[in-house]
Amino acid sequence: MKNILFIAPPNGGKGTQSEALVENFGYIHISTGDLLRDMDKTTPLGQEIAGLMASGKFVSDELIFELLKGKLETLNGKPFILDGCPRNLHQAEMLESMLNELGLSLDAVIYLDVPYDILLKRALGRVSCPECKSVYNTYFKAPKTEGVCDKCGGSLIHRDDDTEETFKVRFDTYMESTAPLVDFYKNKGKLYTVDGVENVYDEVVRVIKND
Ligand code: AMP
Repeated sequence: MKNILFIAPPNGGKGTQSEALVENFGYIHISTGDLLRDMDKTTPLGQEIAGLMASGKFVSDELIFELLKGKLETLNGKPFILDGCPRNLHQAEMLESMLNELGLSLDAVIYLDVPYDILLKRALGRVSCPECKSVYNTYFKAPKTEGVCDKCGGSLIHRDDDTEETFKVRFDTYMESTAPLVDFYKNKGKLYTVDGVENVYDEVVRVIKND
C-alpha cells in the first residue's frame, strides 16, 4: 500500500478521507493537529500551543518533528497517511530527510481541491458531539434537532478555532506557506489532484490502488 500525504486547504477534508482509509485499508493516520490536540494543556508549553492553535498560527518545527518522529517509529511496516505536515517547503525538506533516516518513503501526495466558499461553510457550520465524536454541519449535514447529537443525544459543540476570523488566518497561511507544496511535489512526480467535493473517496482510492 502506498504511503501518502494529503495536502488540502483548511477544512479540505483530509481528516474525513484519512478516517475512511484507516477503516478500510489499515492505514496509520498521522495528523500533527491531532498529536498537538492530544498534548497535556495544563503545562506552560501546552498552554502556549493551545494559544497558537486557537489563533491558527504555526507551532514550532522542532516540536512538530519530535511528535512526528515518535509516531513514525512505531509503524511496524504499516502504511501511513500524513495529514497536516509538511505545511511549508522547509518542513517538506525536513520531512524528506527524516523519512530517509528512518528508511521510509512517501509514495503519493494527494491534493484535495475545494472552492473557498465551501471551505468557509465547512468551518462555520461544523459541530461535533463530545460524547460519541459524531460530526455534523449545519449547512451540509445538520442534526435532526439543533444542538443535539442524533446518535447519542449529547450536546453538540463548536470547535474554538472554527470562527471566520481564524478560518481566514488559516486560509491565508495555507495559501502563502502550504499551497507551494503542490508544485514542489508535482516536480517530484508524486502529485495527484482530486476534486475535494464530489466522489472524493472513490478518487482517493483510485490513487492509492493505481501502480
Ligand atoms: P490541523 O488539525 O492540521 O488543522 O492543525 C491545527 C493547528 O495545529 C494548526 O492551525 C497549527 O496551529 C498546528 N499545526 C498542525 N500541524 C502543524 C505543522 N506541521 N506545523 C506547524 N503547526 C501545525
